[in-house]
Amino acid sequence: MTSMPKDLKPADFINEAAPGVEKLDVAAINRKDRRELYAVRQKIYPRLAHGTFRNVKWLVMAITLTIYYVLPWLRWDRGPNLPDQAVLLDFAHGRLFLFFIEIWPQELYYITGLLVISALGLFLVTALAGRVWCGYACPQTVWTDLMIAVERFWQGDRNARIRLDKEPWTASKIFKKVMTHLSWLVIGLATGGALVFYFRDAPTLAKELVTGTAPAIAYLFLGIFTFTTYLLGGIAREQVCIYMCPWPRIQSAMVDRHTLLVSYRADRGEPRGPLRKGQGWEGRGDCIDCKACVAVCPMGIDIRDGLQLECIQCALCIDACNEVMDKIGRPRGLIAYDTVAKQEAKAAGGGHEPVKLVRPRTILYAVLIVLVVGVMGFGLLNRTTLEVNVLHDRGVLFVPLSDGGVRNGYTVKVLNKRHEPVDVNLRVEGLPGAEMRVVGHDAGPISVPADNLREVRVLVTVPPEHVKSLTPPSTNFEFIVKDVASDTEMRRDAIFQSAAARSKP
Ligand code: SF4
Ligand code: SF4
Repeated sequence: MTSMPKDLKPADFINEAAPGVEKLDVAAINRKDRRELYAVRQKIYPRLAHGTFRNVKWLVMAITLTIYYVLPWLRWDRGPNLPDQAVLLDFAHGRLFLFFIEIWPQELYYITGLLVISALGLFLVTALAGRVWCGYACPQTVWTDLMIAVERFWQGDRNARIRLDKEPWTASKIFKKVMTHLSWLVIGLATGGALVFYFRDAPTLAKELVTGTAPAIAYLFLGIFTFTTYLLGGIAREQVCIYMCPWPRIQSAMVDRHTLLVSYRADRGEPRGPLRKGQGWEGRGDCIDCKACVAVCPMGIDIRDGLQLECIQCALCIDACNEVMDKIGRPRGLIAYDTVAKQEAKAAGGGHEPVKLVRPRTILYAVLIVLVVGVMGFGLLNRTTLEVNVLHDRGVLFVPLSDGGVRNGYTVKVLNKRHEPVDVNLRVEGLPGAEMRVVGHDAGPISVPADNLREVRVLVTVPPEHVKSLTPPSTNFEFIVKDVASDTEMRRDAIFQSAAARSKP
């Protein structure tokens, strides 16, 4: 293994790009003109950036991680016999609990609605400001950022990490590397642990996990999520965004000339080059080629090469360049959020091109979001706490009776989503003279237990004197389920099969 002399300091491989501004020895690892079907990974050593966007990223990381780790521990009183965890995907009760909302398996369309809203929200944000989701809030970005912060804690910033990797394996190097990987594994374990807590009462499961009494499946998923967090956030990092995630390819369909994107303002920056002592700014651009923007980039790209699919729009290069502009006394914003339309207008010597946030595609996405939210909100506000399903017997469509009457069999399912038992009365309408009997139930209301489904078998008989009034092969009628306490009725269409069906060819 090659090694650097021990007494080598960072300053030894840094020149000056301008008086007092270091020129970093860094080159873009990922370039659009060098994209290959397969390329051996070159490690990226992102440098710590300082500035507004870095602070926003720290803030978003703190908020998202706090939500993720704390949410399973929040309690929500739903009364006796029900879990008191605010957010729980409860397989035992077959329900998703989200604070005051309970989603039953029969209502999975709400989850579909949530996914549709999320997708449309992502489209809208991308149309407005490119991949800001990727740059700030995507779990891959958040965990990778966290892993890099931990690596920086144990091994130092960019130059120190490069030096450490080139050093021979000393006790100090082994210690730093082991502590880094151990910390990543602890983060992975916490991440996997938090995820399984969303599926079972968190305090109980935590105790079970520690005492070795948790179900085997909990340990299995804990292991899987620990490993994948360590692998994707600690080891694979930008490779996930570039090679595994389809979003960089899809997002190009959502951006247009008016989308705000992190851009290098070549009209202001070129011709670039180091600024020598005593040199003025006439006849040259503001870019002093210090490469601070490249050194901080977690994706290993040079934003000065133009828009690239690898760019996650994290804006750390903006912070790095602004810091440099402050040092050399030039205006900030050589790298900034800008639109292609504005840049083209500037290059053509045109006037000021305003940023157009309101455009047909952003209006379309916003309207669709409002529509889906409206439909879901209406559905949630008008949700019934009782659901009724009627199934006709499949095997025997009808039974001709010895007295000339006809009988049909049904299964009536009443789902009680309330947390107390409900009494219901059952009757039929639309079948002249029909008699209804609930098998195993003599008379009076049918009791449906709290948070449960009650299935009853129902026989409907049309006596001989009314068989003539049927409309063969099937007659439409209704089952009516009446909630005794609230007097509300639910009607379900059903069909009565009769003998004439057999006479049909
Ligand atoms: S764009 Fe800014 S940060 Fe990047 S090399 Fe030029 S001056 Fe340095
Ligand atoms: S080029 Fe700038 S915005 Fe794009 S990924 Fe790199 S640092 Fe982030």
